[in-house]
Amino acid sequence: MTSTGSRIIVLGAGVCGLAAGMLLRRDGHEVTVLERDHESVPRSPDPAWERWARSGVTQFRQPHFLQSRGRIVLEEELPGVIRALEEAGGLRFDPLELMPPPIADRAPRFGDERFQTVTARRPVLEQVLGRAADAEPGLEIRRGVSVRELMVRAYDGNPHVVGVRADSGEQLEADLVVDAMGRRSQLPRWLEEAGTSPIHEEIEDSGFIYYTRYFRARNGGIPEFRAPILTSVGTFSVLTLPGDNNTWSVTVYISAGDIPLKRLRDPERWTALVAACPSHAHWLDGEPISGVLAMGGVTDRYRRFRSDGRPVATGVAAVGDACACTNPSNGRGMSLGLMHVQRLRDVIRAHLENPREFADAWDQVTEAVLTPWYRENVEEDRARIVEMEALRKGLEPEPPRTRSALLRRALLAAVPRDADAFRAFLASRCCLIPLRETLANPEFVEHIVRVAGDSPAPRLAGPNRAQLLNLLDDLRAAA
Ligand SMILES: Cc1cc2nc3c(=O)[nH]c(=O)nc-3n(C[C@H](O)[C@H](O)[C@H](O)COP(=O)(O)OP(=O)(O)OC[C@H]3O[C@@H](n4cnc5c(N)ncnc54)[C@H](O)[C@@H]3O)c2cc1C
Repeated sequence: MTSTGSRIIVLGAGVCGLAAGMLLRRDGHEVTVLERDHESVPRSPDPAWERWARSGVTQFRQPHFLQSRGRIVLEEELPGVIRALEEAGGLRFDPLELMPPPIADRAPRFGDERFQTVTARRPVLEQVLGRAADAEPGLEIRRGVSVRELMVRAYDGNPHVVGVRADSGEQLEADLVVDAMGRRSQLPRWLEEAGTSPIHEEIEDSGFIYYTRYFRARNGGIPEFRAPILTSVGTFSVLTLPGDNNTWSVTVYISAGDIPLKRLRDPERWTALVAACPSHAHWLDGEPISGVLAMGGVTDRYRRFRSDGRPVATGVAAVGDACACTNPSNGRGMSLGLMHVQRLRDVIRAHLENPREFADAWDQVTEAVLTPWYRENVEEDRARIVEMEALRKGLEPEPPRTRSALLRRALLAAVPRDADAFRAFLASRCCLIPLRETLANPEFVEHIVRVAGDSPAPRLAGPNRAQLLNLLDDLRAAA
């Protein structure tokens, strides 16, 4: 096996699988991508949005936003994809334009372009990426091939994956199998069935339910932002995501334990709630292009493929959601996945010739670049669920107790007032620098604590709990 010209099988043709296929093929490997869903990539965005059957990706028509880290990776590695996305109607978007009005220092700064992105609805983004992958010389993409199990042999004292077996019984051999099967990947079960030690896995239900509706502008472009992209309004949160071709999505999400709010599945109630939020009501002013799409049961899940300090198997690497995935309200999954794919390509370049060295290096890189984002998201989810639950019971949320929670609160209070705090917050939202890293800088901490003073993070206007329940009940009475 050499670091170029190896046989690599990528499982799954989602965002990460397609990107991995292209990057690894460009390094001279013989790459086959196997995808369970059988439909080929539509020719243009409209049929992708309206008809593309992608049952393998449950969230395919849920709201998606490409953070700037994803745009940066694509521009570095696959610039043609960004060009094609813009040609397909993808929106170039600069989140710095959402700088809150009270911030006086509005001068542009060196490096500000790093925040920009190009974004689109998920089916459109994947259609563009899929077409690019189909056109990649020498890259084999086989759709309608469902992989069932691994082929494993002993190598150098370790179980070593040497290929996969499809549902049809077909066997495909490889020097490396890349798991890009997303958040429902069965890799840990397959490994155990092949006789390896169990992997380390952490799973928790993030506890949110999402209710989303898409719109298209009747005239002109997307609505003006009068609030941040993601805002907490008491016991619910609102997420407004701009998309391609003058489309956008509005999502209301709630705690899964909040039974009365589950009536938001009803389009009339959903509309009444958004209309009752002064900073968001105008996002309803478009032509609805979907019903209210609900999604719950979204787990935070982290996997580490090691046991007793050793890889549970060599010859296999999990990437993107298959390795770590979280509640998606920060919209980071695709960007982190693309960044992870880029690093996988680098580790393959450096270490593929030695399977054990490769497994160790891949674990180290994953822990360094992906895991900090996972931990940050989980910490934020837990805090928000606790806050929602307290407010639902009519209690004041508990004040933060840990140092990181206190610093987070200071940062959130400083964001609407201060250009440095705003940029630091954006850098985390855009998957550029995790908050933990930014908040490790004592000078920055001193600065935000001073700016925050005693003021709490601002709360956005919207119905309070009693008004919210009345609003949902009134509609029941009317129905
Ligand atoms: C509600 C929701 C909203 C989200 N919003 C955002 C957002 O705004 N921004 C963002 O960046 N991310 C968002 N995400 C996350 C994003 O969807 C994922 O991070 C991304 O899809 C991961 O890509 P992937 O390629 O790793 O996996 P996936 O896209 O899930 O692709 C996995 C592929 O593997 C295939 N597969 C599975 N099993 C097999 C098998 N046995 N054999 C062959 N093929 C198989 C599947 O069919 C699928 O095509 C959201 C997620 C959810 C749940």
